[in-house]
Amino acid sequence: MAKFTRRDFGKLSAGGFASAGLAGGATVAAATPAAAAISGITARPAEVAQARGRRVIVVGGGWSGLTLAKYLKMGDPELDVVLIERRSVFISHPISGLWLAGLTPLETIAHSYLDAAAHNGYTYFNASLVDVDRPARRVTTDQGWLAYDALVLAPGIDYDYASFGVTDPHQIDLLKSHYPAGFVSGSEHITLARKVQGFKGGVFVLTAPPGIYRCSATPYERACLIASVFKKRNIKGKVVLIDPRDQPAVSAEGFLAAFDELYGDFIDYMPSTEIEGIDGENRTISTGFDDIAFDDGAIYPRIRGARLLEYLGLADAKSAQREAAIDPFTYNAMPSGTIDPNVYICGDCRPMPFSKSGGTARSEAMYVAALIVARAGGKEIPWQSPHTTCYSMVNTEPPEAIMVDGQYRFDATAGQWAHFENTANNQRDSAMGKKAFEWADAHFRDMFS
Ligand SMILES: Cc1cc2nc3c(=O)[nH]c(=O)nc-3n(C[C@H](O)[C@H](O)[C@H](O)COP(=O)(O)OP(=O)(O)OC[C@H]3O[C@@H](n4cnc5c(N)ncnc54)[C@H](O)[C@@H]3O)c2cc1C
Repeated sequence: MAKFTRRDFGKLSAGGFASAGLAGGATVAAATPAAAAISGITARPAEVAQARGRRVIVVGGGWSGLTLAKYLKMGDPELDVVLIERRSVFISHPISGLWLAGLTPLETIAHSYLDAAAHNGYTYFNASLVDVDRPARRVTTDQGWLAYDALVLAPGIDYDYASFGVTDPHQIDLLKSHYPAGFVSGSEHITLARKVQGFKGGVFVLTAPPGIYRCSATPYERACLIASVFKKRNIKGKVVLIDPRDQPAVSAEGFLAAFDELYGDFIDYMPSTEIEGIDGENRTISTGFDDIAFDDGAIYPRIRGARLLEYLGLADAKSAQREAAIDPFTYNAMPSGTIDPNVYICGDCRPMPFSKSGGTARSEAMYVAALIVARAGGKEIPWQSPHTTCYSMVNTEPPEAIMVDGQYRFDATAGQWAHFENTANNQRDSAMGKKAFEWADAHFRDMFS
């Protein structure tokens, strides 16, 4: 296994699926919810059955955590696995755009955590994590504490509005509630769909953030899907997509062809355009070139690792996107450079420049689950690359998609990650359109049944 030092860590570069540009990053006013919460209910044991074996707690029931919980149980049925998730319903990000464009019903993307737990033999604890006492191996939730033998944190990402220069909480709240990015919660998808369905005309603005952001293809796919609704309904309006890159971060050829050939009157793509400020009240975005007035939209700021990690002292202070401080091969937490052998962190909050996508998070989670199972039996396993597969629906009549697929390897000589066995198909067609649905269906079946 390659040795990886803290110095190497700083050399990592983004490329391929997502483009680089990691400079900057705003500081966060880190409240200490944990310290404030340790009283009353949080001082009591949680109402979760006594552990029947070694207990592994997984925090975060997204694509990463759901996969971890299932594959831990599959790998070792004797493990006692508890999934802590603050939400009571799972709404999928992948294929939410197809629902927004009317290609699939809401039931396709909404799933039950109860089903996932019942079918896969683990406990779903509907609670929010507020603190971790690593020396005592105990987590505190808003509904009491639980002890663990191993802990996996997969809390996902948060938005960083300060990266737009927006720091006033009132302005942040205005952007979040009126022009939600649609990259973190199910409520955002519902608001976005309502906006698109009710749009009367004018400019519907979308932004692609700098840095490595969640799902590199989605801003471009979303532009196509929203434009397809406007086109179908003959709306006198267009999608304006503002992008700091000089071309789409991924599948550029396929997306540019779709913009041009399918949505010439409905998409204005603005590459190489940096956002310098946003006035949500007056609906204006200032760029290096011009001010862009908009009527409605979904404004996607730069992202960062979930703030929870920073509160817990588990974020890498040197990382521009405040991602997890971990050993990139074992996913063990590495706060201040010291490995915690009992705590793992994975999913989109990882610092490695892998595509922040559901497929990547799931294949990575399968490896981390296998590693924890092996270690419970006193063994180690070799590192395995995550696998990224992403279908992007660019046409709706008929449904036609493009796709990208690949893995990763660490180049020890160059001290950075590289893509490996990377393939792309930029020629949109219906066979890939069909595969996009099949891909999602196979993942949902695996996580929930
Ligand atoms: C619109 C859109 C389209 C996408 N399309 C694709 C696609 O086509 N293909 C693809 O592969 N990927 C796609 N993705 C990306 C994919 O959704 C993410 O990469 C994936 O969800 C990452 O999984 P995760 O588990 O790391 O994070 P998440 O899925 O965000 O899960 C994190 C979970 O942690 C929970 N949590 C956080 N803090 C706490 C706490 N304190 N206590 C309890 N629970 C907590 C959250 O509630 C959440 O459920 C898309 C994303 C978006 C937004």
